[in-house]
Amino acid sequence: MSESITTSRPRLGHSVVRANMAGAGAALTIAGFLLIVFQFIALHAALVRDVHVQARIVGANSVAALLFNDRRAAEETLAALEASPSLRAAGIFSALRKPLALYQHGDAAPVRAPDAAMLRESDVSTLTTLEVVEPVESERRVIGYVVVRSSLSELYMQLLGYAVLTVSVGIGAMGLAYLVIARMRRAVLQAEAHLDYLAHIDSVTELPNRHAFNERLQVSLKRAGQAGAVGLLLLDLDNFKVVNDTLGHNNGDRLLRQVARRLNDVIDQANLRAVLCRIGGDEFAVIAELSGRAQIAEAEAATLAEGLAKRVLAALAAPFALDLHQIYVTASVGVSLYPHDARDVQVLTRNADTAMYHAKNRGKNAAASFTSEMDQQARRRLRVEADLRRALDREELLLAYQPQVRLRTEGAHDAPISKANVYGVEALVRWRHPEIGLIGPGEFIAVAEETGLIVPLGLWVLRTACQQAVRWMREDGITLRVAVNLSARQTRDPALVENVMDVLRETGLPPHQLELEITESVLMEDIEANIALLESLHAAGISLSIDDFGTGYSSLAYLQRFPIQKLKIDRSFVQRMPGDGEAIAGAVIAMAHSLRMQVVAEGVEDPEQLALLRDAGCDLGQGYLFSRPQQADALLAWLNRLDSPEDDGSAVFADGEAAPRASLPSSLAG
Ligand code: C2E
Ligand code: CA
Ligand code: CA
Repeated sequence: MSESITTSRPRLGHSVVRANMAGAGAALTIAGFLLIVFQFIALHAALVRDVHVQARIVGANSVAALLFNDRRAAEETLAALEASPSLRAAGIFSALRKPLALYQHGDAAPVRAPDAAMLRESDVSTLTTLEVVEPVESERRVIGYVVVRSSLSELYMQLLGYAVLTVSVGIGAMGLAYLVIARMRRAVLQAEAHLDYLAHIDSVTELPNRHAFNERLQVSLKRAGQAGAVGLLLLDLDNFKVVNDTLGHNNGDRLLRQVARRLNDVIDQANLRAVLCRIGGDEFAVIAELSGRAQIAEAEAATLAEGLAKRVLAALAAPFALDLHQIYVTASVGVSLYPHDARDVQVLTRNADTAMYHAKNRGKNAAASFTSEMDQQARRRLRVEADLRRALDREELLLAYQPQVRLRTEGAHDAPISKANVYGVEALVRWRHPEIGLIGPGEFIAVAEETGLIVPLGLWVLRTACQQAVRWMREDGITLRVAVNLSARQTRDPALVENVMDVLRETGLPPHQLELEITESVLMEDIEANIALLESLHAAGISLSIDDFGTGYSSLAYLQRFPIQKLKIDRSFVQRMPGDGEAIAGAVIAMAHSLRMQVVAEGVEDPEQLALLRDAGCDLGQGYLFSRPQQADALLAWLNRLDSPEDDGSAVFADGEAAPRASLPSSLAG
């Protein structure tokens, strides 16, 4: 599975060496050439000087010979030149430039009498020879001339020796330069490799990182071409944050490495050309080339990819050992297929991501394959996200109220409810979107949480619900408690208590008529902070209840520490009545009563459930059996119908028929 990382960047190292060596070579060549030219000039000047000196010595020695026109003496003087082999020829001439004596070395040509030009220059040089003339004087009168010719061969020999030296020094220097540059190149290559590594490899797991993931996915899609198929699995660990927060980052990193190892084992066994990447904190990706270039049916490709996803989930099932802890890790996996779901890297990744979120929403530890419906949902979610901000300003939000009814009343079990037995209402928010229509809180509360919009939204719900309760009290003479839901983010808002107090003051609702509902899981997120929060709300006289009880993981010991007055048994348990839900409801009710809490059963839908809850001693009930959530005026009408004499018993369980149903389609009313 581990293919080597390929990079498209040119190797810097080679060009560095080439450029540096070429530069050094050129510099040395130019320097060498200049040195040799200067050396030639210097040697030549020295030779000219020497030959002049020799000619002058000969001249001094031939004064007498010239004065007395003594040929023999002149010839003897010249014969002394034999000792200097580079002097090829010489001559002594009278003042009238008649030769007195001539000397030649070997078969060299004799010198000729100096002409006017020669006398002016005093020396003449060719490529091979140098000829100088020196006048001979006696008593300030020129009595003759000495001409000496020297060969340049010795000068060339010297120059050659010098050139050989220069070139060898140059070669030596180049060698040295090569060593230095080669070392530099090695350093550059190393740095390059390291940069490449950092850019492509995740340092914790040593897997390809997000950057490398994109490159590799691109390569795989290209390789698959028109016929082949590629499966992309995006995998998100469900509870990694908890491990990181409770056991520390070191252990978090160790866990990631262990997860990576197990995933790689799965991939190795899968017999596919596949690669595992770590593309985020707790996100991994598997790129699996399902058929190479070969044609493959979509169904077959999907089966392969889903099989791999299942094996990935199975591989994580066994606990991980960290120090003395046994950690259970689950993941949500999203699968999307090239070319069936998308033809490019971006869309394929986005689709796998969408599928992954679906798996997560379906209760985690699950895999989901991308479908086009998911895409529509994702688009709708984006729309909701984009429009929600304006919803508040444009007054598109509204509240529905669902009554809570006292169950522990005197008289027969099936006696109609009276107005007096309606204990209060729960306020439930809805959004009337101008184009989409009514949207339920299940769709937008989570979005509001993520964007932080829940804080102003929650405040609006609180204020509106309190205003409504006051209006019912003042205008209709009905006193109802009103329960308002608090989200996780709201409980972490440091201004919450102050805001709640402000709303109570503004609206004039007595604090004991307000109830705040916090879900069990939110309560357990930060126990100490929530105890402090609930204490201050409780101190202000506000009632508090635990929502969706039984779905979180509260322990009794903790429950005792919260100043809670009520438990709301989650709908899922009531739904399992008659059946195993009874035992759970019974236990919760007994436990709550022992802690002096009241119990509300949520989602009561049929009379049988109601009877069982009454038998179990449940204090309050809420559900479609009594009424669906409905808008304020419809709820008032429902209340007023309860005690009206023309109602027979059947109307007792009415759910606020006409008006609310019309304005709130049943699918959205709860
Ligand atoms: P919840 O607090 O558990 O609210 C009860 C939900 O159960 C409501 O759904 C209600 O319509 C529904 N329900 C009531 N009786 C029955 C029944 O007999 N059968 C069935 N099947 N369902 C019933 P709704 O209104 O869709 O609200 C869903 C969730 O949205 C609420 O669950 C609550 O967690 C959240 N929510 C609603 N309004 C607000 C709000 O203003 N702020 C916050 N933070 N959350 C809210
Ligand atoms: Ca609630
Ligand atoms: Ca609930």
